[in-house]
Amino acid sequence: MFEGRVAVITGASRGIGRAIALALAGRGADVVLAARDRERLAKVAQEVEALGRKALVVPGDLRQEEAVEALRQETLRTFGTVDIVVNNAGVGKYGPLLDFTPADYDWIMDTNMRASFLVTRAFLPTLLAKGSGDLIFVASVAGLKGLPHEAVYCASKFAQVGFAQALDHEVREKGIRVSVIAPGGVKTEFAFGTGRTPGDPRLEAFLRPEEVAEAVIFALSQPPHSRVFLVGVRPMVEPLWSCQELCVRVCVRGAYRS
Ligand code: NAP
Repeated sequence: MFEGRVAVITGASRGIGRAIALALAGRGADVVLAARDRERLAKVAQEVEALGRKALVVPGDLRQEEAVEALRQETLRTFGTVDIVVNNAGVGKYGPLLDFTPADYDWIMDTNMRASFLVTRAFLPTLLAKGSGDLIFVASVAGLKGLPHEAVYCASKFAQVGFAQALDHEVREKGIRVSVIAPGGVKTEFAFGTGRTPGDPRLEAFLRPEEVAEAVIFALSQPPHSRVFLVGVRPMVEPLWSCQELCVRVCVRGAYRS
């Protein structure tokens, strides 16, 4: 399905990024694996190679401009091009706002938003020159709805979604598709030590990373004239808090007051 295409995946050392890399490689893409943990990236590369595809490992902290420039240069030196960019690297912390330090804020905003900006900016010229390509943002339901004890994480994910929406206006007519994936809870190592605990039985009811990867594949599999801008994926244990539901509450409240 994706033979001959090159995909850059950030946060590919584990969790959702690893699952996306394997889903793409399983469908014929060669992949560039970016994150900080060199050893884990190397293991994912072995899994990709076992599927018969090429994998380039580029370790680095994607909050840093130099690391993203190295990612761009090594990708283009090795493969000569890029077709798919998956902005997936992300971190989170849960708790009341007063538990957050400025360093927490910078860590979350820089990993989730600044890295998305730097990586997109690095590869966009190649996509524009080709007049085609896909930019995927793995955001969150926290990018669509303010959630309790997630003020900074929500801010970072709303930022990602706003960035993607605005970018869609800029690149759509140039043949580049932008897609946002907004999962609910996923069973990964996400926020371990910063609000989630390994072995917590509640994780068992969450989505599996492979299910989020399938949402990415769905967006990427559209015919060229079609784009899926937003894919929401939620585990069955999570209720929906849709815009319509919120409007109904506001209306009911207004009626009560009058
Ligand atoms: P995860 O298992 O913790 O994986 C996060 C990935 O991001 C790792 O590969 C990590 O690799 C990488 N990363 C973190 N900081 C980085 C940095 N400074 N530079 C480069 N890479 C960095 O979490 P996940 O659940 O797979 O999360 C992936 C994405 O899904 C995130 O954007 C997250 O916000 C989003 N999401 C997760 C859930 C959930 O419930 N799990 C729900 C909705 C959305 P290294 O540590 O090796 O750098």
